[in-house]
Amino acid sequence: MDRASSVRVTAGTRRKSPGLELVPVGEKPIEPYAEIVGDDVVEEIVERAARLKGARVLHINATAFGGGVAELLYTLVPLSRSVGLDAEWRLIRGSDDFFHVTKSAHNGLQGMEVVWTEHMEEIYLSKLEENAREWGGEYDFVVCHDPQTAGLLRLIEEVTGKRPSGQWIWRCHIDLTRPYQPVMDFFRPYITPFDAHVYTLDEFVPEGIDNKVAIITPCIDPLGSKNLWISRLTIRSILEGYRIDPDRPIVCQISRFDPWKDPIGVIDAYRIAKSSHPDLQLILAGSMASDDPEGWHYFNAAEEHRAGEADIFLLTNMQGVGNTQVNAFQRAADVVIQKSLREGFGLTVSEALWKETPVIGGNVGGIKLQVIDGRTGFLVESPQECGEKLAYLLSRPDEIERMGKEGKEHVRKNFLSTNYLLNYLKLFNELTGV
Ligand code: UDP
Repeated sequence: MDRASSVRVTAGTRRKSPGLELVPVGEKPIEPYAEIVGDDVVEEIVERAARLKGARVLHINATAFGGGVAELLYTLVPLSRSVGLDAEWRLIRGSDDFFHVTKSAHNGLQGMEVVWTEHMEEIYLSKLEENAREWGGEYDFVVCHDPQTAGLLRLIEEVTGKRPSGQWIWRCHIDLTRPYQPVMDFFRPYITPFDAHVYTLDEFVPEGIDNKVAIITPCIDPLGSKNLWISRLTIRSILEGYRIDPDRPIVCQISRFDPWKDPIGVIDAYRIAKSSHPDLQLILAGSMASDDPEGWHYFNAAEEHRAGEADIFLLTNMQGVGNTQVNAFQRAADVVIQKSLREGFGLTVSEALWKETPVIGGNVGGIKLQVIDGRTGFLVESPQECGEKLAYLLSRPDEIERMGKEGKEHVRKNFLSTNYLLNYLKLFNELTGV
């Protein structure tokens, strides 16, 4: 049986549910997006999805909360369901030591010279093997996200003695431009058995990978509560709830507390701009992801660097920062910063641009796709440059307005959920020849 017919034949067959935890996400209709991206885009999605009708798609990652992958799946999976795919999202089961190892793997793959030992490899493999033993699903497409799930396919093969059904795709969201080789070498034999890999940029494709590769840029959901329009009144009252003054200039960075997001550098940049804009306030908001054990450590480091400065607001989900609050901060800010040192994509950049707020971003990874230097914001190399560009923009409201408008159109064309869904459908169409 060829792969094209396997999609049609198996569609609708009852699956034996694997032991991995299901994230219940329902459906999200595609039609309302037509008003934002145009009828032609929605028509193409519907047409491509019809060829895959009923295909059983599984996305697997490590957390349903915090960070960009969860953010993406909350929209991609319900949209896929509404266009006729039988899509599911499930989580692997981790543990504290497993997440310490996967965080080191994440840091190592992004280029940090982390401690990497055989014992850590054993922790990673034995936890994933437990997950592999619970595997019992039948799918047409399985998308494993990031290093946390990278070993799953090979371990299922080892545990069950056969390759599980369907096309297996490894979706890597992180910046692999300069990986630390011992960590990359460990993962290589686990990622090569996949039928296809998905990366955000060409430059992330690791050396020596000859799997089928698709380049797909992530996206934001214009109809999600984080990005929907909200009134000035709501924004004001949210700011006031945190004692932030809505009438004074605001800059913000919304990011996990993580070394790659450089919260210390953001504070330094703010201080440089503050010397010429004494009214400036800084919001640094970051949710604590359940698979990120380093969050509090870097939060405390930022708190120490803040040194009691009243105009710097360090906030987390513990203070009720959810989607609506992030939405309000990104709209209230005169300028958004995303001063990453490595960045897979950086959804926060598109989120800000969609709200017509220009972004000063680190000149790395996926930020380079979103910040067009001098047009939708500025790309910078250091806290010093970041602070100078921030001071420059704060003195030029007309440039802020011009960049914000161009930023929104750039996101509309390239980085909305509809684009993302379309690119996955194209990949599935290609992999199955339908
Ligand atoms: N985010 C959030 N609350 C926070 C901090 C971050 O909802 O306090 C969201 C942010 O709006 C974005 C996602 O988490 O949608 C982070 O994705 P990004 O690609 O920027 O970074 P990642 O965490 O995946 O490295």
